Amino acid sequence: MPPIALIMIIFHEAETIRQYLQQQRKKGSRLGFVPTMGALHEGHLALLQNAIDAGDFSVASIFVNPTQFNDPSDYQKYPITIEEDIRLLESRGCAMLFLPSASEIYPNGTEMSHPYDLGALEQRWEGRYRPGHFQGVCQVMDRLLGLVQPDHLYMGLKDYQQCQVVQRLLALTGRDRETLFIPCPTLREADGLAMSSRNRRLPASDREKAPLLYQTLQSIRASLQPGEVEKQLIPHRQHLIGRGFRPDYLALADARTLEEIHQWDGRQEAMVLVAAYLGEVRLIDNVEVLSYKF
Ligand code: AMP
Repeated sequence: MPPIALIMIIFHEAETIRQYLQQQRKKGSRLGFVPTMGALHEGHLALLQNAIDAGDFSVASIFVNPTQFNDPSDYQKYPITIEEDIRLLESRGCAMLFLPSASEIYPNGTEMSHPYDLGALEQRWEGRYRPGHFQGVCQVMDRLLGLVQPDHLYMGLKDYQQCQVVQRLLALTGRDRETLFIPCPTLREADGLAMSSRNRRLPASDREKAPLLYQTLQSIRASLQPGEVEKQLIPHRQHLIGRGFRPDYLALADARTLEEIHQWDGRQEAMVLVAAYLGEVRLIDNVEVLSYKF
């Protein structure tokens, strides 16, 4: 078992953490980074556990990044539970927490001089329904990666498209030479609902309905046949709508490019992706479709 840090160091200033981690690297530590927006749950903590299990010097960050929110009310209502987050991280053996203010992340303001070239990835799914979201994600990740310069970057497959975007960012910036991207499986509540900070905002009646999202994905995965996709998805979409969900999308996409699949040959590696509102809260989830048994 790798040693567990007993005391977690907290840094607020960008320059201080950059210098400290440089020293840490010189001493031979391998850095494992877990960027978050806080309101931590077991899904976040599983990323941290992966870093600890790998023997990394674990660095978590909590920063609710304003530039990735296309909806101002989503930003204003984003849950903040800093004291509890600190307690959780420390109790789970996190070595260091970076807790910056916006001016530490964006000392020159949030204006971007040029957009990141994310290609078609940016137009699809989350990119389409949340314009500017992935540019904001890249902006904050570029800054955080520049400061932390991790050997390992741990991110959750719950945000599948974000994983693709950040991998592209690593390639675009050449940071893929120093940082290995490690995608981690989605942690779920006992009833199947993907853990998410936003789940805290669900009123009890919606929380009861919410597992239907994952049940729908599982049922599509189990029943999908080669051939036309849309007609197979319609009843599932209708069922969600009938139970009070307002889907932005429920679709099959190529697992690598995320291009929509209209005709599935039964072999193409694919994901079922969903985003839907339940009341005011927008939930996303996905499952991998295994190849069809011919
Ligand atoms: P967030 O705080 O929502 O920005 O998430 C921070 C990191 O935790 C991202 O890499 C997410 O993909 C990951 N994450 C969020 N929810 C889960 C989950 N249920 N299981 C695994 N990873 C998650």
